[in-house]
Amino acid sequence: MDEWRLETSDLHLPLRPSWRCCDDGMDWPCAVYKRRLWLRSSFRQERVARWMTRWMRQARPELDGSAEVLFARFVGWVLAGPLPLPLVVPPVRFGNEPGA
Ligand SMILES: [Zn+2]
Repeated sequence: MDEWRLETSDLHLPLRPSWRCCDDGMDWPCAVYKRRLWLRSSFRQERVARWMTRWMRQARPELDGSAEVLFARFVGWVLAGPLPLPLVVPPVRFGNEPGA
């Protein structure tokens, strides 16, 4: 398993049966995988949900927890939409609105 982990560096795929990310050790799917999946799916929620439903079916026999917990972990986050990216907000300047 360790050799496999080295070969797949930066893929952010699940180590099994622990279902932790092979790169960052977080519970899988990790934040990096989620972001990449949204990008790869052109931000189409149905595609992301279908993909994650397949992963959930694979994980179910290997993970403890109720169906609700597994659903929240693997699919529930898809319903909330893409994870927000950090925004850089320019400072607002008052007093120079057009026509003022
Ligand atoms: Zn990861």
